[in-house]
Amino acid sequence: MDFKNLISHCKEYGFIFPSSEIYDGLSATYDYGPLGIELKKNIKDYWWKSMVQMHQNIVGLDAAIFMHPKTWKASGHVDAFNDPLIDNKDSKKRYRADQLIEGYAEKIEAKIQKDVAKAAKKFGDAFDEKQFRETNGRIIDRQKKIDYAIDTMNQHLKDGNMEGLKNLIDELEIVDPEGGSRNWTEVRQFNLMFSTQLGAIAGEEGKIYLRPETAQGIFVNFLNVQKSTRQKLPFGIAQIGKAFRNEIVARQFIFRMREFEQMEMQFFVKPGSEIKWYDYWKQTRLQWHKSIGTPEDHLRYHDHDNLAHYANAAVDIEFKFPFGFRELEGIHSRTDFDLKSHQELSGKKLQYFDPADNESYVPYVVETSIGCDRMFLSQVSLALQEETVPDADGKDSTRTVMKFHPAIAPVKAAVLPLLKNKEELVKAATDVFDKLKGHVICQYDEKDAIGRRYRRQDAIGTPYSITIDFDTLEDNTVTIRDRDTLEQKRIKIEDVAKVVSDNCTMNTIL
Ligand code: ATP
Repeated sequence: MDFKNLISHCKEYGFIFPSSEIYDGLSATYDYGPLGIELKKNIKDYWWKSMVQMHQNIVGLDAAIFMHPKTWKASGHVDAFNDPLIDNKDSKKRYRADQLIEGYAEKIEAKIQKDVAKAAKKFGDAFDEKQFRETNGRIIDRQKKIDYAIDTMNQHLKDGNMEGLKNLIDELEIVDPEGGSRNWTEVRQFNLMFSTQLGAIAGEEGKIYLRPETAQGIFVNFLNVQKSTRQKLPFGIAQIGKAFRNEIVARQFIFRMREFEQMEMQFFVKPGSEIKWYDYWKQTRLQWHKSIGTPEDHLRYHDHDNLAHYANAAVDIEFKFPFGFRELEGIHSRTDFDLKSHQELSGKKLQYFDPADNESYVPYVVETSIGCDRMFLSQVSLALQEETVPDADGKDSTRTVMKFHPAIAPVKAAVLPLLKNKEELVKAATDVFDKLKGHVICQYDEKDAIGRRYRRQDAIGTPYSITIDFDTLEDNTVTIRDRDTLEQKRIKIEDVAKVVSDNCTMNTIL
């Protein structure tokens, strides 16, 4: 389903609304509606259980969003959390210089892919894409252009050379995607942290930041957690919470927001063992995505060539969003950079005494960091489908269905009396609903014909619909309809809660 329809489906059924919509919204901020929060809660649960519940050596934390301003000096965010910004003087639009250059490269790559697709069609089964890319003259030239643009850009970014970026944009003759103009301003650095004032203290002294990542709350609490839980290395601290970034260009719905939620785990290890643990978490995190049913062809690793100042290895898990493969999660080997900087700036030791080796050291850290909202978007974009199914009369009809994994589906079951004006049916259905509601989130619906009620449940991804009919009154059985197979079975009322719970539990995928 196309991206626009996905966004309107999310609004129509109460998954996501634009923030403060009656005032025409606030750019790049969204509100989660009644079904959205259920889905989001389930995603967080899946992450939390996989991390904290399943690992004896991972514990949780919920640190404050506000932190001492020195935190962000130590972490490098005050000095280096910048994006290169450029304005177009004609359209007055603002862009990230690196994204303009990447856009230039993507356009050329699209042309290459067109040629590849054509050739694949022509040569059929005998087609070897790798060989074709390496030998076709036109593709080689185009690939050279891409490599030149990206390599030069990366070098300038590394050197903090804003003038170089501007010259590259001019040299590549990159135009404003909106108006086509090449009338650009200089490129300048823009810090992505939001700031505000603490209490009644005016000026620089009272300036504090909204955290741009949850990780630092974990680092500054490293010893508090380690001592209070008596954990031995290697051990991890997990946290879910809001983060804020004043993104220059925020778009693509909830993919890039200025206020978003992260699910981060920092794993503290003995120096020297970090690459082993980095590999472990790289595998484990990919498996986590597969276990919830994300197909393999929608996931890929993207190893970083350009490492951040704090990392000695880094990879993204990318997901195939409706607008292409993009970062969903990052796994970084962060060395001892953060703990060491905090130790230096605070003057407080952040060391671990290793009883096995009888020595103290600053641990190394492997981080897994995933955006909750991006995970939400990935699951919604996978789930939402339109398909042709037989209707009640056996004729073909189209239905909109969200095929969430049952463990994260916002509503697990719907209870539907066949007719709303038959008191006995309503009473029996209410009894079933009351029994079920203590186990799972369920809905009671008696309005409209049964077929339409099924369609409403399909549209929000409810795995099971339970219908109470006249046979129910005779033999205490109900029909249970499966969202995906459309199969209907009769089961006993006393088994309903168990069948639904057993099939919707997270246990099977942990
Ligand atoms: P990007 O390159 O897309 O800006 P990043 O590399 O800056 O992302 P990290 O700092 O590694 O992101 O943050 C970890 C995770 O937080 C990302 O993998 C992503 O899922 C999520 N995330 C980061 N920025 C945003 C945002 N503006 N809106 C929503 N999620 C975000």
